[in-house]
Amino acid sequence: MSVVTRFPPSPTGFMHVGNARTALFNYLYARKSGGKFVVRIEDTDRKRHSNAAVEAIIDSLSWLGLDHDGEIVSQFSRQARHVEIAQEMLDNGSAYHCYCSAQELEEMREIARKNGSKTFYDRRWRDGNLPIPEGISPVVRVKAPQDGQTIIHDKVQGEVSVNNDQLDDFIILRSDSTPTYMLSVVVDDHDMGITHIMRGDDHLNNTFRQKIIFDALGWDAPIFAHLPLIHGADGGKFSKRHGAQSVQEYREMGYLPEALVNYLLRLGWSHGDDEIIPIDKAIEWFDLEHIGKAPAKFDFAKLDSLNAHYINACAPEKLIEQALPFYQSRHNITLDELAKTRITQGIDELKSRAKTLLQFVDDSAFYAKTAPFNYDEKALKNLDGADDILKALKAEFEKSDNLTADKVQEICKLVADELKDGKLGKVAMPLRAALTGSIVSPSIFHAAGILGAQETCIRIQAAIDR
Ligand code: GLU
Repeated sequence: MSVVTRFPPSPTGFMHVGNARTALFNYLYARKSGGKFVVRIEDTDRKRHSNAAVEAIIDSLSWLGLDHDGEIVSQFSRQARHVEIAQEMLDNGSAYHCYCSAQELEEMREIARKNGSKTFYDRRWRDGNLPIPEGISPVVRVKAPQDGQTIIHDKVQGEVSVNNDQLDDFIILRSDSTPTYMLSVVVDDHDMGITHIMRGDDHLNNTFRQKIIFDALGWDAPIFAHLPLIHGADGGKFSKRHGAQSVQEYREMGYLPEALVNYLLRLGWSHGDDEIIPIDKAIEWFDLEHIGKAPAKFDFAKLDSLNAHYINACAPEKLIEQALPFYQSRHNITLDELAKTRITQGIDELKSRAKTLLQFVDDSAFYAKTAPFNYDEKALKNLDGADDILKALKAEFEKSDNLTADKVQEICKLVADELKDGKLGKVAMPLRAALTGSIVSPSIFHAAGILGAQETCIRIQAAIDR
């Protein structure tokens, strides 16, 4: 069997990390099996539809690196086919027209409420022997089995079943002839040759109904794997109060796609004790057998440590490339070649300090600045009364043409001995403030070495002149 998995998001305007995990699992399973991973946009809700919402999802998928096969399918565009299948079900007797008025349905609901029944429709049109009323456009309902059970052999949940008396003869075509979600999904999954469906276990109830449609049409249902939902640290369903929900937000917070993918993979799937699983290993190792049965808890600290790992492992050029938008948005800086060269020279230390791209950018933005620039409040305090130190430093730096980190340290020591009883910190602090405008930065000896004597002197002079 050639595996085909799918990701069928409803375009809500963003991609939830839970959906991203679902997409990832389907992607991995397809890639691992040499099969296909297809995307279908479930865009039948035309009132809420917007192209921007579709773009947001496609954008997140591509940022995560979950490339799909073939054209993206629009569910809405397949309506005629869904209607055709509803007709086929009418023809083969597995569905029927129901002409109930709104009032009749309300009466049935009332009776069901009184009886505490889970279903309400009394199937009065099922046998089709009532006189057809004037002026009512019928809906089409499925003839659901009335006895026995509907059983799903789920790859994660095991065997799950529902008594058929709990399932209504639900609607597959509305009175305006538009298909319902239940019908569209089944027809699309069948026509797209989907062999495996991995999705959140909140869809399990839909699955029973969809199975009824598959059976009614004599179609093989795909293999199902319903994933436990993601929870927050407190055990409740992962939601806004626990933290960022959308892939876009994590991107904006400076997470690398590799880190988020690795994190989401481990959130509900395991491979022994392995924590760091790059995508090629994930493709090799992924299986349905090791999907967890219990909801996994979203753990921000773990995500951070994976992000730190992937930042550290990233090639300098690629890392800077990914950071570019943040230099712009946070510091209003467009990196020129000189700044890129400096950052590349200091990158080992920058990488080892950064948990996120934001931190990487904030720590390195000073390399791209041109004096005079602004100092933050704490930096200003370190500059106050430090002119003698700055002048002494500058005099030494001017004499040295090849400024290495060791040389900078040596000069700082010299000045400290001269002016501050050998206290190196008293010299390093104003130097840091002058060179970076801030009180946190990578090693200032290294930084001055990378900036070079000339630029270091320009910045020191600007601090003296401020
Ligand atoms: N459009 C549905 C959702 O976003 C997909 C359901 C399914 O996987 O069948 O939840």
